[in-house]
Amino acid sequence: MTTLPMSLTTNTPFDAPELSDVNEHFLDVIIHPLERPYTYKGPFHIAPGFQVTVPLHGRKATGYVVTTYLENPCKDPKVTIRSISKPDKSESCFLAEQLTLFQWISKYYHTPLSEVIDTAIPTLTPPKRERWVSLSQDTGQEQPKGGVQLAIIELLKEATTECTVQSLAGAGKSYITALKKLLEKGYVEINERLMSRQLLSVPRPAQLSLEQLQALDAILDSLTPCKNNTFLLHGITGSGKTEIYINAIIKARKLGLGCLVLVPEISLTPQLVSRLEEKIGERIALMHSGLTPSERAHYWRLALEGELRVVLGARSAVFSPIHNLGLIIVDEEHDSSFKQSDSLRYNGRDIAIVRAALAQCPIVLGSATPSLESYLNAKRGKYTLLEINQRHGTSKPPSLECIDLTKHPRSKMQSQNISLPLKEKIEQTIQNGNQVFLLFNRRGYASFMICDACGYTLFCEHCEVSLTYHESTSSLACHYCNKSYQIPPRCPSCSAPRLQNRGAGTEKIHEEVGKLFPTARIERLDRDSAKNLEDYRSILERVKNKEVDILVGTQMIAKGHDLPGVTLVGVVDCDVGLHMPDFRAAEKTFALLTQAAGRAGRGIDPGHVILQTRSPDHLSIVNTLKHNYSGFAENELKDRKDLGYPPYWRLMRIVASSENEELPEQALTLLTLNLASLVDENIGKLSVLGPSPAPIMRIKDRWRWHLLVKAENVTLMQRVLYYIKSNWKTPKSLRITYDIDAQEML
Ligand code: ADP
Ligand code: ZN
Repeated sequence: MTTLPMSLTTNTPFDAPELSDVNEHFLDVIIHPLERPYTYKGPFHIAPGFQVTVPLHGRKATGYVVTTYLENPCKDPKVTIRSISKPDKSESCFLAEQLTLFQWISKYYHTPLSEVIDTAIPTLTPPKRERWVSLSQDTGQEQPKGGVQLAIIELLKEATTECTVQSLAGAGKSYITALKKLLEKGYVEINERLMSRQLLSVPRPAQLSLEQLQALDAILDSLTPCKNNTFLLHGITGSGKTEIYINAIIKARKLGLGCLVLVPEISLTPQLVSRLEEKIGERIALMHSGLTPSERAHYWRLALEGELRVVLGARSAVFSPIHNLGLIIVDEEHDSSFKQSDSLRYNGRDIAIVRAALAQCPIVLGSATPSLESYLNAKRGKYTLLEINQRHGTSKPPSLECIDLTKHPRSKMQSQNISLPLKEKIEQTIQNGNQVFLLFNRRGYASFMICDACGYTLFCEHCEVSLTYHESTSSLACHYCNKSYQIPPRCPSCSAPRLQNRGAGTEKIHEEVGKLFPTARIERLDRDSAKNLEDYRSILERVKNKEVDILVGTQMIAKGHDLPGVTLVGVVDCDVGLHMPDFRAAEKTFALLTQAAGRAGRGIDPGHVILQTRSPDHLSIVNTLKHNYSGFAENELKDRKDLGYPPYWRLMRIVASSENEELPEQALTLLTLNLASLVDENIGKLSVLGPSPAPIMRIKDRWRWHLLVKAENVTLMQRVLYYIKSNWKTPKSLRITYDIDAQEML
C-alpha cells in the first residue's frame, strides 16, 4: 500500500479551487472499497477532503482527495495518469487534519483507508444555506426612509439575533427593494449560512464541591496551554462527573476550543443534550446512528464549517470534524458499546485517545467502574487518575443487600422470580411515593421453550440459538437473525401437546410484578418496548413525571439516569451474564450491578439495592455489595495477568464462517499450523488458543469457528496480523473477520 505523507494539516479544506491557477496538480484519490489510492491529474489544486468523480477502468467512481502533489508522483512513464475536471461538491467533506486519524485507524485495524472514510463520513447532500439579515453594529449616515425600511428595522429589533430574508416579507410588498436600500446604507448585514447565528446565553455551571474542583483544576491545567494528557475520572455514581465535564467544556469554549463528548449509547444523548445546551449556553451538534441521514449530514456540515463547536454523540461521533479541537470527554468509558461489532470493528474510546494525542489536547475518561484497561494505565502512570468518592450534596451511596436464592426457600418466593424481601421492599417504596427499578438483563418472556415429554427445545432454523418466547407478540424470535416463528401447537419431535416456557425475560418479570402489585403503574424498558429514541424518551419522561411506580428493564435501565424519585433498585437475577463464555464476564457483571445500584437514592430519600443471586460468593457480587471497585479490579487484574489476557496482553479474535460446515474448522486449523513457527519464535510472548467452535456455532446459516491470538504487546500483534494477511489465502466461500481488541466473544 502506498504510504501517505503525514504532514497534510497545512492544506486547509476550504482552499477554494482557483480556476486562474493553470498549473497541473496531481492528487491521490481514495475510492471505496479499493485498498490503495489512485493518482489523477487535476486542472487546479483540490484540497484533501474534497469529493471527486474520477474515471476508473472505463467507468466513473467517486472518491475523496487524500494527498496532493505539484509534480507527478508516479515515476513510471508507462503509467497514464487520467485527468479529472473539478470536485463534485464545491465544499470539503472533512477537515484535512482528520486524515491523519483516518490513516491511523486504517493501519491499526488493517482496514483500507477507503473503508475507514466510508464508515466515518455520512452521505453529504448539498448544504441548504439561507440568507440571514441582522442589524449592523455601525449604522450608516443616511437615515432609513419610508414605512417598509422602518418596518424591517422594527422586525429586526424584535428578533434578538437575526431573521431570514423571507421572514421580513411582513414589512411590506416592496421589502426586497427596501432591504437592498438598507444594505447599501449600511443598516443591515446579510450573511449566507446554514443556520441562524447562535443565540448565546450565559453559561450556568454548577458550584462544585471541593473534590469536584480538584478534579476540574487538574483538567483545566491541561487546557492552558493545551496539552495532551489522558485523565481517568473515577467517580462513584452520582458523584457529579457530568458537572465536571460541563465546567471543563465551558472553560474550553471560552478559550475558543472545540469539544467532543462521547457517550456509549444513543439512548443517553437526549438526556444529556438539553442538560449540556442549557448549561454551556450554546447549541451542540449531535452525531449518532439514531439520526436520519439528512440530520446527520446537517450536523456534520455545521461542525465542518465551524458553526457548532461542541459535538455530542455515540461512538461514531469520534470521526466528527471539529475546529481547533481542545477537549475530549468519554463518559462511561468502560462500556463495551464503544466497540463496533461489525464491519470496521473499532473502539470509539480508543480512537478518541489517539485523536486527543494527534490534536495535542486533554481527554477525560469518566466512569464509576473504569475498564481494567484504563485502570491499569492509570496505575502505571500513563493516565492521570482523578477520584471522587462522595456523592454530591447530602445524597449518600445506596445501602445494599444480597438475597441468596439457593438458601431462600422456594415456598417463600412470592412469584417465580421475586423473593419475599424484594416484594416487601417494593411495597414499602411505592407506599412512600417513591419509585422502583427492577433489572433483568434479558428481554422477552421466556428464553427457551422445551417439551416436557422428550426434552426437545425449539431452535432457530438458521442459527444455533434457542428461540425466545415473546408474549407481547405471541411469537418466538431468534435474537441473532431476528426471524420470528409461530408457536407450534405440539412438540415437533414427539407430538406431545404442550411446550413449556423456561428461563425468564423482562416480559415475564413485568407480568409477575403486575400480579403482585395489581394497582401499581408498571412499565417496561427494553429494546422491544423502546424500538426508537422517541419511545425511549417517552417512557423515561413518564418515570420522571412520577407516572410510573415500577420500571422493569434490561441493562437500559442501569445507565446514566439521574432520577431522584428512584429509591429502590432490585436486580432480579444477578447471574444472567455471569457464566457467559467471556473472560470479561465478571468485569461486565460488576459494572452492570454497580451502575444499576447507582440509580438508587440520587434525590433526598436514601437508596436501597437488593441483589438476588445464586452465586453470593462471586467476587462481582461481593465487591458490588461493599462498593469496592479497587478490591474487584485488583483481584481481576491478578487473574488476567496470570492467564495472559487483556489488559496485560493484547487480544485478537479471528472468526471464520461459512455455509459449509467443515470449512471454518479446516481453515483455522491450517492457519494455526501456519502460525506455529511465529509462536515458537516468540515463546512467552505470543499464544494462539483454538481453533474451537464459536459459542454460537451457527448464525444466519453460517457455521462459525474462532481462534484467539494473544500477544504481549501491540507491535507483536500487528506483526501477526500482517503476517496472516500477507500469507494466508482463503477460499471465497469463507468469511474471515479480524476483531482487534475484541469485546464480543460469542
Ligand atoms: P454522575 O455523572 O457522576 O453519575 P451527575 O453529574 O449526574 O453524576 O450528578 C448527580 C446529580 O448531582 C445530578 O442531579 C447533578 O445535577 C447533581 N450535582 C452534581 N454536582 C453538583 C454540584 N456541584 N452542584 C449541584 N448539583 C450537582
Ligand atoms: Zn436465527
